[in-house]
Amino acid sequence: MSYQVFHGSIEVVCGPMFSGKTSELIRRVERAQIAKQRVQIFKPCIDIRYNKEDVVSHTSRTVKAEPVENAVDILIRLKDSTRVVAIDEVQFFDDAITTVVVKLAARGYRVICAGLDLDYRAQPFGPMPSLLAVADEVMKIHAICTICGASASRTQRLIKSKAQVLLGETDAYEARCRAHYQYDEDEEQTLLPLQEEIVPLASNLAN
Ligand code: ADP
Ligand code: MG
Repeated sequence: MSYQVFHGSIEVVCGPMFSGKTSELIRRVERAQIAKQRVQIFKPCIDIRYNKEDVVSHTSRTVKAEPVENAVDILIRLKDSTRVVAIDEVQFFDDAITTVVVKLAARGYRVICAGLDLDYRAQPFGPMPSLLAVADEVMKIHAICTICGASASRTQRLIKSKAQVLLGETDAYEARCRAHYQYDEDEEQTLLPLQEEIVPLASNLAN
């Protein structure tokens, strides 16, 4: 008796807003579909920016997606014939998403995740650090800085709010390079000499 062995894997596409994460996810999904592999696409319920059941890129390319409340819902909704699991806006899930994704890969699924690596404060977003660590393949992509046209790795929030999650589009966010990104636009960011900045930081860490 022979049976087919499926090799599972975890791919993570990350970067700031407008970097093309969703477009890249859709590209991979379409190629899997051309290869006649059954794909299920999930997104967190929280992402209601566009059509509730679509994954939509900023270029308006769409694929049908299943909105889920939490990471475990993905396991519950999985169909027998599915081979590829794609998850967009993966940064909005709780930490259980890493366990779910690892379990899927161990059972032979190809898992494709797309999400913001950093939040608007340029801090690691939710479960992204652990997802990036368990991934077999990581693609970090950039947008274009709206100020200077350089490669942008940050997402600048334009609206005053301290909430980590604030859904919005070009009205609320812009892609920025490291030089033109500022956590608080009003706050004057004066630079201390590097050693003056590092020494207190290092002694805090040692204590
Ligand atoms: P993400 O999912 O990373 O937010 P999308 O795949 O939805 O990205 O959209 C990427 C598209 O956004 C680009 O192909 C481009 O047409 C558009 N876009 C708008 N603003 C920018 C920008 N500042 N830099 C790069 N692309 C941008
Ligand atoms: Mg997107």
